[in-house]
Amino acid sequence: MSNRPTIFALSSGRPPAAIAVVRVSGPNAGTALEQLTGRVPEPRRAALVRVREPATGEAIDEALALWFPAPHSETGEDVAELQLHGGHAVIAAVLDALGRTEGCRLAEPGEFTRRAFENGQLDLTAVEGLADLIAAATPAQRRQAFRQLKGLIGDRAEAWRRRLIEALALVEARIDFPDEADVPEDLVRPAVHAAQQLRDEIAAALTHSRRGERLRDGLVVAIAGPPNAGKSTLFNRLARREAAIVSPYAGTTRDVIEVHLDLDGYPVTLLDTAGIRDSIEPVEQEGIRRARERATAADLVLWVIDVSAADRPDMLETKPPSAPAIWLVANKSDLTATGSCAKTRNKDEFQFTCSISAVGGYGVDQLVERLAGFAKDYFSAAELAIVTRARHRHLLEETAAALDRALAEAKKSGAQDELIAEEMRAAATALGRLTGRVDVEDILDVIFRDFCLGK
Ligand code: GDP
Repeated sequence: MSNRPTIFALSSGRPPAAIAVVRVSGPNAGTALEQLTGRVPEPRRAALVRVREPATGEAIDEALALWFPAPHSETGEDVAELQLHGGHAVIAAVLDALGRTEGCRLAEPGEFTRRAFENGQLDLTAVEGLADLIAAATPAQRRQAFRQLKGLIGDRAEAWRRRLIEALALVEARIDFPDEADVPEDLVRPAVHAAQQLRDEIAAALTHSRRGERLRDGLVVAIAGPPNAGKSTLFNRLARREAAIVSPYAGTTRDVIEVHLDLDGYPVTLLDTAGIRDSIEPVEQEGIRRARERATAADLVLWVIDVSAADRPDMLETKPPSAPAIWLVANKSDLTATGSCAKTRNKDEFQFTCSISAVGGYGVDQLVERLAGFAKDYFSAAELAIVTRARHRHLLEETAAALDRALAEAKKSGAQDELIAEEMRAAATALGRLTGRVDVEDILDVIFRDFCLGK
């Protein structure tokens, strides 16, 4: 470890700013700090220092210096931190001086975190939680990310893995010493019992997994309906900005446009789909195909119709896409006396019906309130979910499947201990990949790629 390069980077946001934080991690961090400031302060105590250009002795800035000797630092290595004045030239002079210090080089994006992972300061699920915490845009996402950072799934997975390895040891003891007198006859039964329990716990954790993943990505709400119903107008009103093209001519919104909303703290991705109807024009057909695809994957479809043209064949006949929830939004209620669509469609198709004017704004606030309630209900279960990424889900599914195979083998008459052990080992490996304890080289680049410089 001691021949590793020492890395440094600006870890705070874009200058100019009041303060800039420069971090240095690695075996030469102490030397670098001493060259810049003349000393290494007491561990974990802020010290006021004069930062000087090492070559000339010219003062660059007055700063706070912090010293975290290994292993009690974020990366697990020696870490020095300087809180400078956040001007371009100050930062440039300090980074330049660090670049000339022996054994020091600029860090790559995510490299500090990667070292923390490699030195066992963070497991892989905590690394993901950290990335999510930095990316979190709503309070619910922040809470979820923070819990992952603090070991929500990582600690559970590690505890499961330990229990599994203990159970596996029992089976292996029987394999290794089949005839030994002091090895109890029935070691496999308690092992199988433990495997069964683990399997049930993992299955329970998987129940709300999709919702947990959605909390990261946002609940998907698609606005769909026949052309000219006012979808883009509603979309713009909900997005409170001019994101989609509003046009009085049918079939102009060919692409799927999306915005990310924060509804009462919950993330919602709103999609404006192209007018869904039959078309012979190829470009429009492609738009329609994509619109249908996105709308079908949505958690909720707002099916918008024009009530003033409610007897038009396409208003009556176009079918909403299938989605877990579909609401009927009767738009242009300003153009009709009744503002109702009771006669035009079979209401049983919809979980909720409302009447609005996307242009005038009538009914839109109530719709937003209702959407926020929907998001809240949806995510109340998600906040309990420990699975927040497809990666977690796939590995837990793999674990459960391997345990199932172990249990199936154990049930057979003439069950083979070797086969039971093999499946239990496969299950333990999948859990180990979840926390990054085993065999994860192949996915590390993908996970650290998303980090910003200085993290
Ligand atoms: P889309 O094809 O479903 O996206 O429909 P647009 O949002 O492009 O709207 C089609 C036309 O209907 C435009 O001229 C809008 O100004 C108009 N429109 C949309 N909503 C309303 C409404 O609530 N009342 C009235 N009177 N016109 C609306």
